[in-house]
Amino acid sequence: NDAAPEQVLEGLDEEQRAAASTLTGPLCILAGAGTGKTRAITHRIAYGVRAGVYDPHRVLAVTFTARAAAEMRSRLAGLGAPGVQARTFHASALRQLQYFWPMTIGGQMPQLLDHKVRLLAEAAKRLRLTTDRASLRDYAAEVEWAKVSTLTPEGYLAQAEERDSPAGLDHRGFARLYQAYEDIKEDRGLMDFEDVLLFTAGMLESDERVAAQVRQQYRHFVVDEYQDVSPLQQRLLDLWLGGRQELCVVGDAAQTIYSFTGAVPDYLLSFRRRYPEAEVVKLIRDYRSTPEVVKLANVLLADRRPGGPTPWPTPLQLISQRERGPVPEITQHADDDAEAAWIAQKVAELADSGTPLSEIAVLYRTNGQSQAFEQALAAAGISYQLRGSERFFSRPEVREAIAALRTSSLVAEESAELVPEQVRGVLSSIGFTRQAPTSTGAVRERWESLAALVSLAEQLNTERESAFTMREFLAELEERSAAQHAPTVEGVTLASLHSAKGLEWEAVFLAGLCEGLMPISFAQSQRELDEERRLFYVGITRAKTHLFLSSAAARHPGGRGRRKSSRFLIPLRKELGLQAPAQKIAPGGGGLSVNAAARKRRAAVCAGCGTPLTVGTQIKRRRCEDCPPRYDEQLFEHLREWRRGYAKELEIPAFM
Ligand code: ATP
Ligand code: MG
Repeated sequence: NDAAPEQVLEGLDEEQRAAASTLTGPLCILAGAGTGKTRAITHRIAYGVRAGVYDPHRVLAVTFTARAAAEMRSRLAGLGAPGVQARTFHASALRQLQYFWPMTIGGQMPQLLDHKVRLLAEAAKRLRLTTDRASLRDYAAEVEWAKVSTLTPEGYLAQAEERDSPAGLDHRGFARLYQAYEDIKEDRGLMDFEDVLLFTAGMLESDERVAAQVRQQYRHFVVDEYQDVSPLQQRLLDLWLGGRQELCVVGDAAQTIYSFTGAVPDYLLSFRRRYPEAEVVKLIRDYRSTPEVVKLANVLLADRRPGGPTPWPTPLQLISQRERGPVPEITQHADDDAEAAWIAQKVAELADSGTPLSEIAVLYRTNGQSQAFEQALAAAGISYQLRGSERFFSRPEVREAIAALRTSSLVAEESAELVPEQVRGVLSSIGFTRQAPTSTGAVRERWESLAALVSLAEQLNTERESAFTMREFLAELEERSAAQHAPTVEGVTLASLHSAKGLEWEAVFLAGLCEGLMPISFAQSQRELDEERRLFYVGITRAKTHLFLSSAAARHPGGRGRRKSSRFLIPLRKELGLQAPAQKIAPGGGGLSVNAAARKRRAAVCAGCGTPLTVGTQIKRRRCEDCPPRYDEQLFEHLREWRRGYAKELEIPAFM
């Protein structure tokens, strides 16, 4: 790349360019969704590297998910600045811990613990507490919160008044349990996820040599999605900086969606106070979405009633730069299956009119909702993926496939041509079928990965003038693996709203928009409802052109498990001039509303949807299998989702 470094600044608007060409910190980019924050910092790094101001190996860019980190690395490579480290906080910390462990502490590094709940069960037993699984999960979430808030058991107790203690324990009881958990963990030579950050921070704090070496290594720090940084992550960042100011942070307070894990937007909002010399750049032009989509996002934020405990940032009104597009659709369907079927049909229509499947996403509030969409898409013969293409080459099935291809290349002749049929043949030896399996879940995901390899072979074959060999194909795979350049997995993305942050698609379906799911049932306080609203905002702003907001009037056919459509849709319907949907009484109700019928049989109905519980369903928790889990279970699911992102990056098994 011999072109002038300034070339990297082309394709940025004036404010973005101002941010990207401010190569010394502190710098804060404060802007709404889709305004090009990530683009601006990526170009800033590339510009700094190409102008010779940054040594690429001395830049550390921290992003929120493994997927975002992979995306940034590939964009930087494309801009002529390879070699920059773009990682999550956890991945960065783990590397440092592994590197410095021998010289600071020595001996065996603790192993990552994958069952907090199991260890907590032991701790409870030690204290002779009677618990159940649901409470243990609640405790696990509380331990995690305490640790990312950098509170020891005593520290927790000191702050106790401000927070409800978890189910069944008073604050003192929980602090004792937390201490017992820590003791057992240490005895066993284990560390949990938060320990990775805590140990790294401790090492940097207590050992000058470590701090000096890390600070020597990294000179420039960039943090994306800074509104969701936890106190523990902030502490680590401060230690990395060691009083230096070479820091650029980027965030949008209206997109804070991880405060349940201890994230606090205050760090973003108080940046100017902490760094009085900081440059602050604001971006308001939205390059991602059409005016129609942007309008709904603005209306949603503005609809929040003032007041309440959360400092609600004055939302930056976004101004769309794009041409007008289709009007967003808000629809209500008879039941969950009907909603999913409608979505599958719409996806097929979009695909027919030229939208690639990889540019379509179906987003939902809880992972438990994915099943209905998986089934509907599979039934319609539409490919989908439950996760992104990040760490593609680390997936077990991809490794297995490459090993099989390698074996086959050993027996083939050096110059034997490759037609994709051969790849398909080799992969069929490890279970690949021509047709997508009708089953869903892991089996289907495995198939999608293998199908991506076959279509890569097809694509390379058509792109090349001359035929190529199996060895060349393997070399290509190796190169792509090193560059983290995954083949496009052609399929609709199914993802939770939390995991969609920072990403974008041509067409986005926000599904299951009913009370209890959006906002989620456990969000009761103003603080929690505000976070739900922000999460919905994140969802809307993922759409570039087509936006579909849907809900179902009942969970089951026949009107069982009636549900109300989400309160957040009210101002959006108004904006679009739509009537509120009629809340119909389902046929076959025998004159009784479903709720009244449910009340009559209170002893045996699901507490979530009112469906009668039959033998074999989860009577113990009074919930049928379809219903969103209880508060503690839900919270737990979010934590799990949050961890999964990191777990992928670290190549450790998903936790909990
Ligand atoms: P989010 O808050 O969702 O993370 P963001 O502010 O980080 O959004 P980006 O993802 O950087 O926004 O940009 C959104 C989209 O707009 C991307 O497709 C990006 O390429 C495009 N974009 C940003 N700035 C420009 C520009 N100046 N000209 C053209 N396209 C742009
Ligand atoms: Mg971004």
